[in-house]
Amino acid sequence: MADDVTHNARKRGLRTTLSHIGRATKREHGFVNPPLLRGSTVLIPTVAERKALAAKRGERVLTYGTGGSSTHWALEDAIAAVEGGTRCYIVSTGLAAVTTPLLAFLKAGDHMLMPDHVYGPARSFASGILKNFGVETTFYVPEIDGAGLAALMRPNTKVVYTESPGSHTFEVQDVPAIARAAHAGGAKVFMDNTWGIHHFQPFKHGVDVSIQAATKYPAGHSDVLIGAITVNDEADWQVLHAAGRELGQYASPDDCWLTLRGMRTMAVRLQAQMESALLVAHWLRQQPEVARVLHPALPGAPGHALWRRDFTGACSLFGVEFQPQFSPEATHRFVEALDLFGIGASWGGFESLAVPTTGFITRTAEGGKFAGPVVRLHIGLEDPDDLIDDLGQGLAALRDFRG
Ligand SMILES: *Cc1c(COP(=O)(O)O)cnc(C)c1O
Repeated sequence: MADDVTHNARKRGLRTTLSHIGRATKREHGFVNPPLLRGSTVLIPTVAERKALAAKRGERVLTYGTGGSSTHWALEDAIAAVEGGTRCYIVSTGLAAVTTPLLAFLKAGDHMLMPDHVYGPARSFASGILKNFGVETTFYVPEIDGAGLAALMRPNTKVVYTESPGSHTFEVQDVPAIARAAHAGGAKVFMDNTWGIHHFQPFKHGVDVSIQAATKYPAGHSDVLIGAITVNDEADWQVLHAAGRELGQYASPDDCWLTLRGMRTMAVRLQAQMESALLVAHWLRQQPEVARVLHPALPGAPGHALWRRDFTGACSLFGVEFQPQFSPEATHRFVEALDLFGIGASWGGFESLAVPTTGFITRTAEGGKFAGPVVRLHIGLEDPDDLIDDLGQGLAALRDFRG
């Protein structure tokens, strides 16, 4: 039994990697799982040793709780392997995994490019706190090509942000082309890779900083909030890690431990949920009330060609655009009529969810308009036949709605 399997992780399949990574069986007295290590103060025998340890900031040494412990490092290794990067930094929430690297890599006078479909709180952070701190953001059409992006670059553009597909409207981005144009202009490429988790390998496609709301599939049980930032370059790690420490970023070891536990089964959950989501998406596409199913892995759906080129699979989150004769209120009736789908934020847990999307969309660039109302579905681990039955009775309520 190898005690440290991290170095091999990228040659192996995801299921093997997730079964073995982040374990230190010898050190942990033979227990399969790393124990949960909690603590703030670390006692160091001498002043001289304390000084020597302080010089190793950024390395895995125990000097104080905020530097993390073996519980954090086990999870960091697991996420770095999933993302295909060299180092990962665990932070308190998915949103903190968005804001921490933005604060690390941007300063007053800089410019950022962000896709118009970006996760709402990321947009608010750019338009609020970053703007107040002197960073200007231009929101671009998510389907932009390399030449289009190059035309938006300014001498002071320091970050080009991507999210592919968008987590409400599911446009797939040409990340490699965007990354080439961004790098040519001297900017770092960020990606919110929560949807693509493992099925999109960010560093093979030109991304410098990959963001995971690990709250979703890694934690996987709708009971933990946690975020992860992964990089593939030592200099980027130094910038990111120093900023995270200065910002006081820290995740509870209990939440790290729960997330690592969730990750042991993540590959099989993802596979089962992807298959169910595709069954449900195919069925929905045949229903007369549905105008389009916004699922990139569905042949003929928006973004399918780019998805085929760059992704090796899908998660279980997608959108349903209804025919324009249905009002948003009728779709509210639809989601309320469902028994097995809860109405709630977040996704990636074991249970199905349905939320109307239209109200969340704030756009300033061209495009991004839908003729009919959109509902976002998250497919959980329920039996897909039961979910389809439930959606059938939801569609009956939609047809019967008189508003
Ligand atoms: C949920 C989510 C986040 C934020 O994660 P939290 O842990 O809820 O803060 C970031 N990006 C995307 C795409 C998300 O869906």
